[in-house]
Amino acid sequence: MAKYVYFFGGQKAEGDSGMKNLLGGKGANLAEMVNLGIPVPPGFTITTEVCTAFYERNMQLPEGLRGDVLANLKKVEKLMGMRFGDPKNPLLLSIRSGARASMPGMMDTVLNLGLNATTVKALAELTGNEWFAWDCYRRFVAMYGDVVLGLKPESKEEEDPFEEIIDEKKRAKGIKLDIEFSIEDLKDLVARFKKAIKKKLGVDFPEDPVEQLWGAIGAVFKSWMNARAIAYRKLNDIPASWGTAVNVQSMVFGNIGQDSGTGVAFTRNPSTGENMFYGEYLLNAQGEDVVAGTRTPLPINKKQKSDKSIKSLEEEMPEAYKQLLGIRATLERHFKDMQDVEFTIQRKKLWMLQTRTGKRTAFAEFKIAVDMVREGLIDKEEALMRVSPDGLNQILRPIFDPKEIEKALKDGRMVTKGLNAGPGAATGKVVYNAEDAEGWAGRGEKVILVRIETSPEDIRGMNAAQGILTSRGGMTSHAALVARQMGKVCVAGCGDLDISYKTKTIKIKGKTVREGDYISINGSTGEVFVGEIKTIPSEVLRVLVDKTLKPEKSQIYRDFESLMSWADGVRRLGVRTNADQPDQAAVAVSFGAQGIGLCRTEHMFFEGERIDAVREMIVAEDLDGRKKALAKLLPMQRGDFVGLFKVMNGLPVTIRTLDPPLHEFLPHGEKDIKDLAKKMGIAYDRLSAKVASLQEANPMLGLRGCRLGILYPEITEMQARAIFEAACKVKKTGKDVKPEIMIPLVGDVRELRLQKDVVDRVAKEVFAKAKMTIDYKVGTMIEIPRAALTAHEIAQVAEFFSFGTNDLTQTTFGMSRDDAGKFLRLYVEKDVLDYDPFQRVDEAGVGKLMRMGTELGRKTRPNLKVGICGEHGGEPNSVKFCHRTGLDYVSCSPYRVTVARLAAAQAAIEGKRGARQAD
Ligand code: PEP
Ligand code: MG
Repeated sequence: MAKYVYFFGGQKAEGDSGMKNLLGGKGANLAEMVNLGIPVPPGFTITTEVCTAFYERNMQLPEGLRGDVLANLKKVEKLMGMRFGDPKNPLLLSIRSGARASMPGMMDTVLNLGLNATTVKALAELTGNEWFAWDCYRRFVAMYGDVVLGLKPESKEEEDPFEEIIDEKKRAKGIKLDIEFSIEDLKDLVARFKKAIKKKLGVDFPEDPVEQLWGAIGAVFKSWMNARAIAYRKLNDIPASWGTAVNVQSMVFGNIGQDSGTGVAFTRNPSTGENMFYGEYLLNAQGEDVVAGTRTPLPINKKQKSDKSIKSLEEEMPEAYKQLLGIRATLERHFKDMQDVEFTIQRKKLWMLQTRTGKRTAFAEFKIAVDMVREGLIDKEEALMRVSPDGLNQILRPIFDPKEIEKALKDGRMVTKGLNAGPGAATGKVVYNAEDAEGWAGRGEKVILVRIETSPEDIRGMNAAQGILTSRGGMTSHAALVARQMGKVCVAGCGDLDISYKTKTIKIKGKTVREGDYISINGSTGEVFVGEIKTIPSEVLRVLVDKTLKPEKSQIYRDFESLMSWADGVRRLGVRTNADQPDQAAVAVSFGAQGIGLCRTEHMFFEGERIDAVREMIVAEDLDGRKKALAKLLPMQRGDFVGLFKVMNGLPVTIRTLDPPLHEFLPHGEKDIKDLAKKMGIAYDRLSAKVASLQEANPMLGLRGCRLGILYPEITEMQARAIFEAACKVKKTGKDVKPEIMIPLVGDVRELRLQKDVVDRVAKEVFAKAKMTIDYKVGTMIEIPRAALTAHEIAQVAEFFSFGTNDLTQTTFGMSRDDAGKFLRLYVEKDVLDYDPFQRVDEAGVGKLMRMGTELGRKTRPNLKVGICGEHGGEPNSVKFCHRTGLDYVSCSPYRVTVARLAAAQAAIEGKRGARQAD
């Protein structure tokens, strides 16, 4: 029989941190802490396998579990010197979920379990604090009533039934705070809670602690499938099959008096990554008080203090703080990563309740990774694996324009300051609930979600918003944690805001902000501004692109540079860019692009007056007319290529011949056609007829790509001439040039051969005239399934391949890339597809063609260079797939180049690690 329950406590645990799949993250790390000699309240973990069995058996717990749980409970009782349900010395338990991956606040917890009419009295006597005992009891009844028995608000508008009773009582007594309740009040609350449960649910509140325990264990397993948890798993790619473990642990109390307290801390600053102990605590409080955002916690140490009048834990309880510092060092040395810990101090004794890898902002993620390499804790490869490509993207995100900020400050628009919970700058229209955030964002509005505090129900709205602003809660409140994880800008605990959901207003220092008004928040400083504030590029961009900041002035930039150089050291895959303009190419080069992988020449056709020449070419009656128009385009295109070759300075430049259907360049409405006819001096009817004649039922599958060049070889000829003349011109200035001419939409080798013949003939002519030669290559896009299937033939002519995965996805799925948006979202929601294949390579289908195309092509031409230039070339998962498929390079838009470099490095490291495991 499988082992269902793992004990931890004393000096030795049955589990360890390597057993996360079985014990969940929390259970595995509690065990590990015990093994490290850190004080942990004893308890046991019921495995995730039990959760799986529970769901397989129609929500029945497996036989045999009962005996195991009770046996382990005995061990806990022995260590604590207390007994569960004992009328004199009762042990109380906490029951918490703990999945393999952290899912903060998504599942249920029950605290103070084991209390009943008898044990509450014992607790009062033991602690000498009757008020405390009854406070625990009323909290327990409410929590159990909600989580296990299911007495919850039925709609959004409804208040929590237990809160309603509390509020009623407060009103009747004329008091505001919980601490103003008398012992009699608390007893009355317990009675009323139980009555409400009986009335609404028809059940008695269980008095038997063992019955309570089984109820709670079942409820925590059930909460794995609640709507919040399901939504969170979907957002974070966590499979439902993992299940959660349940941790049953002895309670320790931070709310017995002023010599007790509770807190949460990070071993480094989770916002900035700074190497400092960073946390919050509350005296005389339970853990829930810190994270629920109902009381704003105090800083853990002097360094974090901004207000002299408050006392940090370091000052309040120096002994416990010192012990915590020691534990901080032990944990970081052991786990080699930033930890997020929960602790409770009961009567001056410190207990650690949890440690886990701490969530952090993108800034902190990469700063900690880089710092830990410098501190010798981890190696460069580990650092590279720890920075998520999406996170790296955030480093490139905008910040507020300092000039606009200065102005806003002068105008008195900075209305308040909260906690800088998720860095970055965000501006948008105010909405007051998650539903509106989703709805408005769906219509293309930028919104800031403003809440008193957030709860797990808000995650979809948070995801849709640019930023989140709350009036309550600390750095570890739900809003702060989740925002950081999502990479959202967040200002939390902004106590000055008087938020009313009813009137949808915020009152702040005499100002009223209504729904739809602009607000701007700075998640790096905590500042809140009314009105819209423009943003400007990040520090990295200011160093690299704008050159308005010196590298030595920006620590972020220097860390970024270090990380990128490590990435370049391990990656095999080249990274190029898709660029058609010299300035775009220059940006991409500063981001580390190693060439241009796709220059879409048609983009050059729209500039200024060129479009007239292009149109003239299209409507020309015959070859002569077309050649005349093309002659006008030639010098312009040549100029473009000169610009590109200069910027790329010897790096390869892949230029694709004209691709889209010609009608795309023509005017459409009657008025536009009339205007053009006038400009060109031809009759309206003639032009109108020409436009009509070019219309196609399926232009994406019509006269485009190489088909154009085959029908009108003079177009390819002009483009080839422009490329080679530009190349000669630049080479004469002493710069190296590496042109690669790429033919689009090839499905048969004969198409490519026809086009290559044109290119080669023009090259000869140009080189003869210029009295010089230039090395060049002619290759093709592989973007039609037939090309992938016959790649061995195509490679007889093609000197390189580049997968055009936009068209290849379109043609493989038979889904129009322009229309699929309408149904793809639904497809993903309904699990027809795991993701949008136009964003991430569909490995099973499109990917199979890519693998086949690469293999077949290299059979014919072993050193065939193969790349990708569809949008997927900048998407991290697809980049990794390209690495595994043996491509030589990916090509993506300039701003995704750094992300692609990192993803390429990670792919190489994953490859090495995989190979090591296979050995
Ligand atoms: C492609 O099809 O993937 C591609 C890069 O070309 P375009 O998007 O211009 O069709
Ligand atoms: Mg294409």
